[in-house]
Amino acid sequence: MERTLIGELRSHLEETVLIKGWLHVLRDQKKIQFLVLRDRTGMVQITHWKPNNQELADLISTFTTESALTVVGKVSDNPSVKLGGLEIQLESISVENLAETPLPFEPFGDKDNLPALDFRLDWRYMDLRRTENLLLFRVQTTMEMALREFWIENGFMEMHSPKLMGSPSESGAELFELAYFDTKAYLAQSPQFYKQMAMAGGFERVFEIGPVFRADPSFTSRHMTEFTSVDMEMSWVESEEDVMSNQERMLQYAYKRVKELHGEEIKIVFGFELEVPQVPFPRITMSEAHQILKEVGYQLPPDKKNDLDPGAERVLGETIKQRTGCDFVFITEWSFAVRPFYHMKKGEKLTRSFDLIAGGLEITTGAQREHRYEVLLAQAKEKGLSPDNIQFYLDFFRYGCPPHGGYGMGLSRLLMVMLKLPNIRETVYLFRGPNRLQP
Ligand code: ATP
Repeated sequence: MERTLIGELRSHLEETVLIKGWLHVLRDQKKIQFLVLRDRTGMVQITHWKPNNQELADLISTFTTESALTVVGKVSDNPSVKLGGLEIQLESISVENLAETPLPFEPFGDKDNLPALDFRLDWRYMDLRRTENLLLFRVQTTMEMALREFWIENGFMEMHSPKLMGSPSESGAELFELAYFDTKAYLAQSPQFYKQMAMAGGFERVFEIGPVFRADPSFTSRHMTEFTSVDMEMSWVESEEDVMSNQERMLQYAYKRVKELHGEEIKIVFGFELEVPQVPFPRITMSEAHQILKEVGYQLPPDKKNDLDPGAERVLGETIKQRTGCDFVFITEWSFAVRPFYHMKKGEKLTRSFDLIAGGLEITTGAQREHRYEVLLAQAKEKGLSPDNIQFYLDFFRYGCPPHGGYGMGLSRLLMVMLKLPNIRETVYLFRGPNRLQP
C-alpha cells in the first residue's frame, strides 16, 4: 500500500490508508486508546478500541512519544475531533524506531519553557521537530526559490565559485587558513573576486547562494563562522543605485512569494501578519544617518566614527520605520576608510557603496565596484595590500571589464528579520561558532 500524507487524508474518507509519522501524543484510557500521529504535513487522531485486540492494545501501551510509526487504518469523518474533524480507526501498527525515554527535551512542551538555546542546539534534530522550525525551513526554501525565480526572470546566471582559495578575498582578518598539500589555502570569506571575474568573463549578471567562512571569534546573536551568503553582481551599472533598485525589487518579490505560500501559517505559528514591503525603500546617506543618531541622542562608540554599530542600526531602523513606515533602509555614501579597496570611490573620501538595514539589522553590503585597473591598483595600495598577492584578481580588469556592482546578503539574517527571530542560531540549520563544531 502506498503512503498517504496526513494533510491529504480528507480526500480519502472511508478508505483504508497507510500513514507514517511520529507519535505526538498517546492517551491510553480504560477501553480506548487515542494516538495522535504527526508527519510533515499535519496531525491526525487514531483510535483503537481495546477490546477489539487486547494484544495490540498492550503493545501500544509500550509506545513512547516521538517514536517513528507506520499505521494502517480507515479514515472517517468525525466533526467532534479537533484535528481536522477526522479520525482513523486503527487496523495495524508497527514501530520503525522506538524513542528512548526520557527524551532529551520535550519539543512540543510549553513554548515559554523550552530549554536554553545552547542545549537545544546540542539536540538540534529534536529541536528541528518543533512546528516553528519546520515552517522556518519551508519559508527558507520558498525564499531561495523566489530569489532564483526573480534572478532568472531578470537575466541572471547561477554560479558556484570555489571555497578553497590561494589568497584572501576580503582581508587578512577573519581568515581560516588550512594546510593544502605542501602549501596553504584559505576558506573563502565571500565569492567577491570570483563574481567580479564573471563580469570580466562577459556573463553580465550572476548570482550565487553558497557557504562562506569567517574566523570571527565573537559571540553575538548575528554572527556565525560559516554562513550562507546570497550574492549577486551585475554589469553596465550607472551607479550603486542600479544595484539597490534591483535588490529591493527582489526582496519585495521574495516576501510576496513567502506570503502567498506561508502567510496563513506564519500568522498561526509566529503570530504576526507578514508585510510585503513597498518599494523604493528609503535611502539615507551615512552623514544623514549620523545626523539622525545625534537627533535621537544615540552615541556611537569612538572607534565607529565613520561606521555604525548594532545599536545604531537598531535606532536607525526604528526611526526610519516611524518616519516612513518602512522596515528597510539603505545607508549610502560610506567612507572609504571603512570599506574594502574594491568599492568605487565617490569623491576623495566616500564610496559608491551601501548597507541595507532591515528590522534594525544589517543584512547586506553592496557597492559599485572599481573597474579601472590603475584606480583599483592605487586603492589596493592605499589600503596597504600587496598587489602581488592579488595580481590574479587585478588582471580581471586589464582586458575590457565593464562597470559593475553587486552585493552580499546573509541568508540567515534575512530569515531572522522576516520571521522576527532574535538569534541567528535559531534561523540556521546548524550553527557554527567559535565554540561549536558539533553536531
Ligand atoms: P557585520 O558588520 O555585521 O559583521 P560585515 O560588514 O562583516 O557584517 P559583510 O562582509 O558586508 O558583513 O557581509 C555581507 C553580509 O553577510 C552582511 O550584511 C550579513 O548579512 C552577512 N554576514 C556577514 N558576516 C556574517 C556572519 N559572521 N554571520 C552571519 N552573517 C554574516
